[in-house]
Amino acid sequence: MNKLILIKYGELTTKKANRNFFIRTLEKNIKNILCDDAIEIKKDRVRMYIKTNNNIENVVKKLQKVFGIHGIVICYQVDNNIDSMKKQILEILKDKEFKTFKINAKRADKTFPIHTMELNNIFGGFVLQNIECRVDVHNPDITINIEVRPEGTAIYIDEIKGAGGYPVGIQGKGLLMLSGGIDSPVAGYLALKRGVDIECLYFESPPHTSIEAKNKVLKLASILNEYSGNIRVHIVPFTKIQEEIYKNVKDNYIITIMRRMMYRIASEYSKRKNFKIIINGESIGQVASQTLDSMIVINNVTNLPVIRPVACLDKLEIIEIANKIGTYETSILPYEDCCTIFLPKHPVINPSLDKCLLYEHNFNYEELIENAINNIEVITNFSNDYKDIL
Ligand code: ATP
Ligand code: MG
Repeated sequence: MNKLILIKYGELTTKKANRNFFIRTLEKNIKNILCDDAIEIKKDRVRMYIKTNNNIENVVKKLQKVFGIHGIVICYQVDNNIDSMKKQILEILKDKEFKTFKINAKRADKTFPIHTMELNNIFGGFVLQNIECRVDVHNPDITINIEVRPEGTAIYIDEIKGAGGYPVGIQGKGLLMLSGGIDSPVAGYLALKRGVDIECLYFESPPHTSIEAKNKVLKLASILNEYSGNIRVHIVPFTKIQEEIYKNVKDNYIITIMRRMMYRIASEYSKRKNFKIIINGESIGQVASQTLDSMIVINNVTNLPVIRPVACLDKLEIIEIANKIGTYETSILPYEDCCTIFLPKHPVINPSLDKCLLYEHNFNYEELIENAINNIEVITNFSNDYKDIL
């Protein structure tokens, strides 16, 4: 007898033309996420089977964070003979409580001499003989799945829900503006879920922002990495630009101009590093810089698509996701970000583009931006190192 993990692809099987690419990407991602585990993977067009010598429950926990997986089952593999199957069924049912059941047999090995209907009858009768219960094909307490395949028969009962979505990477790369707040990690998670392979861009302004603020971002990145396996963080030295803004811009426009600078850097860096889109955690109306009028003026500095996965969610809805994915507790740690230091009392909510251009004329931001980009620090290898950083 052999215990193994069976993976169901779900949504991706509907994309027929790209199916092989989807499955290959999913396999690569699984290997990435399970890089510390001894595993062996077999796959076909509808299923993947993973064997492991490690603790199977731990491996399943990690797999629950892999996008593109819709169902995970721990199953038992036996030889393709009826007696072995019967023995295994009894073994599995030994500690299950149920009154009604259904057999769901599949004959994926077309050379197997007994057909599906007959298999259902054989095993249905066998369970009735051995356990006090009855058959209910419409609403059973448990379904006993029996899949006869060339390499053996897989028998399983419970299916664990997978993370859904598409395998990370099938859409290419995106650059997530990651701050230490609640919103941007959630935005990153949602982009990963749709198959975007994200890397993170963080603007830091030491000594105005602390090492703890930076470590908080690295910790958030390491949590996102559990869903990706491929995260990097690019750290932009933003102090000089921020100081020039405070010197040269009227109070109420400081945030607007600062965000235009962030977008300029994100956009230019994306073009140099081949990120197709920018992703951020803006939510319509949440703060002055996120009114539609502000967004238009800020967005004006880039021609790359800016995707805002949480744009239309309420804060409470964003918090609910943050809790689910495990970023909330870190996000609420009280270390100040560069957006919150020197916050003006009355930031403009309907900025004018002409005024922005006038203020920006006061200093040589192009040179400062070039300098900042040339001094970006890249942090890689989030598999283990940053979990306990705070
Ligand atoms: P909160 O969850 O408290 O709103 P936030 O990180 O969303 O925090 P905002 O001021 O609302 O903060 O910023 C909007 C978006 O701009 C963020 O979601 C993030 O994508 C980006 N951003 C803000 N500050 C930074 C930063 N220091 N580095 C990178 N991106 C940033
Ligand atoms: Mg926000």
